Amino acid sequence: MPVDKPHWVDLYKEVVTSGLCTGCAGCVVACPHDVLRYDSGGTWRPWKVDEDGGPEDCTHGVRGCTMCTRACPRFRTWETECDTYLFGRARKAEELSGVSDQVLLARSTDPELLERGQDGGLVSALLVWALENDVIDAALVSGTEGDGGCGPAVPRVVKSRAEILATAGSRYTYSANTLAYNEATSGGAERIALVGMGCQASVPAIMAARKTGKIARRLTLSIGLMCSKTFDDALFVELFEARYGIARSDIVKINIKGVFQIWCKDGSYHEVPLGEGRAFTREGCLHCPDFAAQHADVSTGGIGAFGDWTLAVVRTERGRELLDSMASKGAIETRPASDDPDMLILLDKLSRASRRRWPAGADLAPGLIKRSAQSAAPT
Ligand SMILES: Cc1cc2nc3c(=O)[nH]c(=O)nc-3n(C[C@H](O)[C@H](O)[C@H](O)COP(=O)(O)OP(=O)(O)OC[C@H]3O[C@@H](n4cnc5c(N)ncnc54)[C@H](O)[C@@H]3O)c2cc1C
Ligand code: SF4
Ligand code: SF4
Repeated sequence: MPVDKPHWVDLYKEVVTSGLCTGCAGCVVACPHDVLRYDSGGTWRPWKVDEDGGPEDCTHGVRGCTMCTRACPRFRTWETECDTYLFGRARKAEELSGVSDQVLLARSTDPELLERGQDGGLVSALLVWALENDVIDAALVSGTEGDGGCGPAVPRVVKSRAEILATAGSRYTYSANTLAYNEATSGGAERIALVGMGCQASVPAIMAARKTGKIARRLTLSIGLMCSKTFDDALFVELFEARYGIARSDIVKINIKGVFQIWCKDGSYHEVPLGEGRAFTREGCLHCPDFAAQHADVSTGGIGAFGDWTLAVVRTERGRELLDSMASKGAIETRPASDDPDMLILLDKLSRASRRRWPAGADLAPGLIKRSAQSAAPT
């Protein structure tokens, strides 16, 4: 971090209104003065109350509070700071999907977790394992409003296997899981796992790197979901329902495998071309350079030939210890990523595509890798 004391006035200009803000809500939960709010219903951005300096400035910031900028994984040199904190070095140009210790395929051996999970149920298995083995007290995940299915995604706290099962699977609209932090701590949680796409998976690392105190100490585990984009809720009404006659309330599961795969309550299955969803891309994703959730302890994805396995990129010692102990006790089974070489090529390709979105004029690190990789790789 620079020696000056950047605060909301800087975050507002350099991130919130510049196109870099992903809506991860790190700043909102880190603010100790309760002057930041979050718009979950449209912009997916933080905003500041009128009091204490107005929407664009903050009197607490003027007096020296820097918490919001320290919690933001898009502020200034965030990527290098996170890489250096987690791995002791900046990443190399060829590490398109981030620094990693091991890449493998894994899936839960518990039939219920496997069935309810989006891919191999690895994330749910990790959470169950971490709760039942006293590694964490709670996890911040995403549930849905209403009776499950595909209702709007909302942040949730889970503390039991039943709650993990109820929130398994992927929603492709945004859920700022970080926002569930206060509910978790009010319930007494001190060791908290955060599940989220790359934008959120970097929150624990940047908070720790910039020393945000007890909030950083409590976010002890980051489980990343690989991600190219999320969609606005209008996707359901204006595309699935208007053009394909598929009502949101009838959908039980969606997956993205080159197309939108849609399963409905009546047992029917539909495919919608992915390109038709482009117009509904959430604005906060347009400049995001992080496909592979590069600062998670373990990043997970569903690309590749094996539909009921989760691609796992193990990045930290904590991530490796967890997966090793789960595998040794039979909670998961694993196979080498080399079983699916095309998957690794696709991982690099999707990571490169995301890094190309990082705008010129912002911090150079994501762009430098992009340019270096472009010049090195035949396209
Ligand atoms: C928006 C989104 C986009 C994705 N895009 C890709 C992609 O392009 N390529 C790829 O390989 N993988 C992608 N993934 C990851 C993939 O869908 C699976 O989440 C991952 O493979 C883990 O599968 P699993 O069976 O181990 O997870 P599960 O055991 O099913 O657990 C999934 C966890 O994710 C949480 N979750 C679900 N939806 C959201 C959400 N919207 N926001 C935050 N948390 C959520 C759940 O609460 C649960 O804890 C995406 C995931 C999401 C949520
Ligand atoms: S990227 Fe996250 S932390 Fe940064 S301003 Fe946006 S919501 Fe806040
Ligand atoms: S593309 Fe995915 S990781 Fe990036 S900002 Fe959007 S939701 Fe977050």
